[in-house]
Amino acid sequence: MAVTHRDPLLRVNPIACHAHGLCAELLPELIDLDEWGYPVLVDGVRGAVPAPLVDQARAAVAACPTLALRLSYPHRVS
Ligand code: SF4
Repeated sequence: MAVTHRDPLLRVNPIACHAHGLCAELLPELIDLDEWGYPVLVDGVRGAVPAPLVDQARAAVAACPTLALRLSYPHRVS
C-alpha cells in the first residue's frame, strides 16, 4: 500500500504498552506482535499510515487500554 510523506504516523509508547495485543487485532495491516506480545510496526521505523487505513488506525488508537498507541500528524499546518 502506497504511503506519502503527508500520511499520519503511528507510534507505540513501549513504556505504557502492556502487550494486550488489541492493536494488532484491529490493525493487522500495520502492526505485528513480537514473541512477547508487544506491537511491532510492520514498516519498522516510520509508522506511516496510508490514507485507506487511517480510520482503522484511529479505531485501534481509541481501543488501546493504556493510551500507548498514538497517531500524530507532523506535517499538518495549523
Ligand atoms: S493495544 Fe495498546 S497496550 Fe495493547 S499491545 Fe497495542 S499498544 Fe500495547
